Amino acid sequence: MITIHYDDEKLLRQTLNSCPVPITETDKQQVLEMNEYLKLSQDEEYAKKHKIRAGIGLAANQIGLNKRMLAIYLHDDKEYSYALINPVVKSRSIQQAFISSGEGCLSVKKDKPGYVYRSYKITVEAYDAIQDKVITIKATGYLAICLQHELDHLDGILYYDRIDKYDPFKKIENAMEI
Ligand SMILES: [Zn+2]
Repeated sequence: MITIHYDDEKLLRQTLNSCPVPITETDKQQVLEMNEYLKLSQDEEYAKKHKIRAGIGLAANQIGLNKRMLAIYLHDDKEYSYALINPVVKSRSIQQAFISSGEGCLSVKKDKPGYVYRSYKITVEAYDAIQDKVITIKATGYLAICLQHELDHLDGILYYDRIDKYDPFKKIENAMEI
């Protein structure tokens, strides 16, 4: 069973270790479990019963593992479901974007208000345990932001680190509002 770890723990501030290649069965199972956790967390009844918050993304250090793994389960224009091991950013757009309602995180108990600017478009290469192969994800908009939030976790970065301390709702010219 998965237990969520919070931002007062050192592991949330660490750069995580790469997983050995070829990918082990243990790593595959753990990242698939993370994906399953997200799916269940979005089931209102299940979440209420187990007293868990709904999430769309989860990184391995959020469940106490020092491994470069992350999961996404998100319904936007369509369903996106990933269980990624050793993800690498191949390219990102200069075009910036932000979520107008701000970001949240399962490891941050109280939401921190403010805009988090990220690339509008991102290309990520990773082993995906769901498809059981190395894939390339070309993401835009909400999915791209979600991926960047999780990728940050693998380097010990939290979303509020990216909010301007003095002007949290600062507007950046040409940044796309999502
Ligand atoms: Zn998070």
